[in-house]
Amino acid sequence: MASIQIIDLEKHFGEVKALSGINLEIDKGEFFTLLGPSGCGKTTLLRTIAGFYHQDKGDIYIDGELINNVPAYQRNTGMVFQNYAVFPHMTVFDNVAYGLRVRKLPKDEISRKVSAALKSVHLEGYEQRTPDKLSGGQQQRVGLARAMAIEPRVLLFDEPLSNLDAKLRIEMREEIRAVQKALGITSIYVTHDQEEALVISDRIAVMNQGVIQQIGKPWEIYTNPQNMFVAYFVGKINMLTMHLEERAEGNLRRARLGRLSLLIPAEGTKDLQEVVVAFRPEDMVEAEAAGRKNEITGLMKTVSFMGSVARFELDVEGQLITVDRHRPREADMPQKGAPVAFAVPVESILLFDPKSGLRIGKGAQQ
Ligand code: ATP
Repeated sequence: MASIQIIDLEKHFGEVKALSGINLEIDKGEFFTLLGPSGCGKTTLLRTIAGFYHQDKGDIYIDGELINNVPAYQRNTGMVFQNYAVFPHMTVFDNVAYGLRVRKLPKDEISRKVSAALKSVHLEGYEQRTPDKLSGGQQQRVGLARAMAIEPRVLLFDEPLSNLDAKLRIEMREEIRAVQKALGITSIYVTHDQEEALVISDRIAVMNQGVIQQIGKPWEIYTNPQNMFVAYFVGKINMLTMHLEERAEGNLRRARLGRLSLLIPAEGTKDLQEVVVAFRPEDMVEAEAAGRKNEITGLMKTVSFMGSVARFELDVEGQLITVDRHRPREADMPQKGAPVAFAVPVESILLFDPKSGLRIGKGAQQ
């Protein structure tokens, strides 16, 4: 188990600033995820930690040891790749033994370590197969066993599940997490899939355009996003830019958008004329149940039945608002084109400054 510390890391590719001002501390045994859209720099960061790229600026420490000038093969990290990267002409045994042979370990020790690694990914009995006779999920297990067999200080995962189908992804992510927990290997996991990140991680760093936007536990990231990018990227959220009325009413203030008028928390809005009012689809309630407080009326645009949830999209003042209804019943489903009324409880509203995009009011950390 190892801790990792990254200080003021920067990496350019010509004109492209792939990473800037990256600061991170990852604890021993932690499962840490880099989450962000395509091109945000997460793979570059992972590969710089592995030593495949060299940073232009900044320091990387593993267990307190500065490794800036340590070559990749001496960093003792194990990498699991998106495209499995198993050697097609080698058997499962030889694939997993590869890194151990490079390290010139005695034969019986190699045999023991390969068996242990295959056991932990449930591939005992597959030693003599070649990868072309394995499913995608099994090939990825070989990739995982090979990375683990060398007993690395750190495991690095580069979108390891993106080539698998939806059901297998869920199975494999649980397996990866179970193996990681059992062995306690510090892990850094790259994904653009926010649900995967929420499920698998101890902590998440959300990235955009080479910059870390927020670091936190899955719950913190989802319920307490610190800027509009994080709120928008993790989960679904409605955002309305609304005009603030002058006077506060106690600790509440009125915000308007056309005919829509909402009471929002006043905290943090003092010097603003406009504010971004954000709320999640699952926090919306039926207008009547809320006593018609903070009512949002609109025209039903789309109705999607998704099993445990029905998702509605309504046109409110020319903008689309998403509402989730749990335990939907067929008889209660609204008609497309019909006027509908929901409400947003004031305590589930998050506020952002429209200029800076930063969170304001209760829950803002800066
Ligand atoms: P994806 O999910 O698509 O893999 P990512 O978040 O991992 O994206 P990176 O691959 O780290 O993003 O890329 C970050 C930025 O650096 C992008 O703008 C990309 O085009 C650029 N980039 C990455 N690798 C190189 C390279 N070898 N040469 C030039 N530019 C690169």
